[in-house]
Amino acid sequence: MIDLSNKENCTGCRACLASCPKHCITGAFDHEGFWYPKINTNQCVDCHVCEKVCPVNTGSTSDGASEQYAVYCKTALIRKKSSSGGIFPLMAKTIIGDGGVVFGAAFDSDFVVRHICIDKYEDIAKLRGSKYVQSDMGDSISQVKSLLKEGKKVLFSGCPCQVNGLLNAIDKNLSKNLITIDFVCHGVPSPKIFKSYLQERKKSGDIVEVLFRNKKYGWKTYSMKIESKNGNVYRKVFVLDTYMQLYLRNLISRPSCYVCSQNHRSDITLADYWNIAKKHPEMNDGMGITKMQIHSQKGQLLWGEIQNQCVSICDEIRDLDIQKPRIVPPKRQLIFDNIDKYSFGELYSKYGKQGFLYEVKNRVKTLIKIVSYFLGKNL
Ligand SMILES: Cc1cc2nc3c(=O)[nH]c(=O)nc-3n(C[C@H](O)[C@H](O)[C@H](O)COP(=O)(O)OP(=O)(O)OC[C@H]3O[C@@H](n4cnc5c(N)ncnc54)[C@H](O)[C@@H]3O)c2cc1C
Repeated sequence: MIDLSNKENCTGCRACLASCPKHCITGAFDHEGFWYPKINTNQCVDCHVCEKVCPVNTGSTSDGASEQYAVYCKTALIRKKSSSGGIFPLMAKTIIGDGGVVFGAAFDSDFVVRHICIDKYEDIAKLRGSKYVQSDMGDSISQVKSLLKEGKKVLFSGCPCQVNGLLNAIDKNLSKNLITIDFVCHGVPSPKIFKSYLQERKKSGDIVEVLFRNKKYGWKTYSMKIESKNGNVYRKVFVLDTYMQLYLRNLISRPSCYVCSQNHRSDITLADYWNIAKKHPEMNDGMGITKMQIHSQKGQLLWGEIQNQCVSICDEIRDLDIQKPRIVPPKRQLIFDNIDKYSFGELYSKYGKQGFLYEVKNRVKTLIKIVSYFLGKNL
């Protein structure tokens, strides 16, 4: 039976729930807003399947990264709407064009992030773009299994732990038609904190759109954009947005993210190529470049199908970004201890706010970067 005594040992991928032959695993959200499995010990027959599929137990398999590219989609609109270079939508389009389906993270009507499956390219807008909240996997793993059994081609995109859980839960003989994309992952924040943040934004009107990675002020100075039904638009560059500040300072992530040891067992890993100006200055146009790592032959084949729609450079040196364990800031505990007591704004003021000098420095640095973007310098 999986060890649920320490929350760091569970990523919430639901591979255990999808694989239990006795169906004795259910789950619930804890007071921090993260999902954990619950085992009915009366029904458990100690078959250890849940332990075998858990990505925390199998996370140390080495990745087979072989090729790395700096890459972006030639179609400006696709690139503009995606987080980095717009590579994921191109891959999704290819799979759907082949009669396949695509799994990824989308907002539901209440702006809860959930994994969904699409089979029409018109629905790509739901999946594209990073959502900095843990995505609820629902019964995605079981759905993937059924679709593979029907002989469908499936593209699954998610965090490394979600992909690794899925790979553990799928029989090897079924995985021929499964292709997986993961990304370099900073960690996943609490859906409950995000809900509390949106509650405050809702005061300006009912929300119709949330974008974490709007590129109006450039890719490196991406902004949080929240649009209300009444036309009200909230837009703040990430370093000035209170939710993004808490996330990037590791104050609201899932406990397992602080000790993450998930390797990239996917076919393809995507990331932001933040140091592009240093590595390939000729590509640095400020609109977003993806760092793409191809780990398998399946990944190579998919890349081959979209390559002519992209501008790319193959890197000579492979430099992997594997998640390193992070220190849990003491203020994280205070935030979650008081999550039910205070509004998001109060939580931020009490435990997230930085000193006056830090705030001023942040604003000046951001302003310089935005000006540099509009001058075409892209610092
Ligand atoms: C939570 C999170 C943390 C990240 N941390 C880093 C980082 O530290 N460094 C870095 O270089 N890159 C990070 N990325 C990856 C980066 O933001 C881009 O997703 C990546 O560069 C691909 O960009 P794209 O333009 O090709 O695709 P896009 O069109 O932006 O597609 C995004 C893909 O990510 C999936 N996705 C979005 N949100 C979630 C979610 N919450 N959970 C699971 N899947 C999701 C979507 O389904 C889609 O497949 C992170 C992404 C996420 C979601």
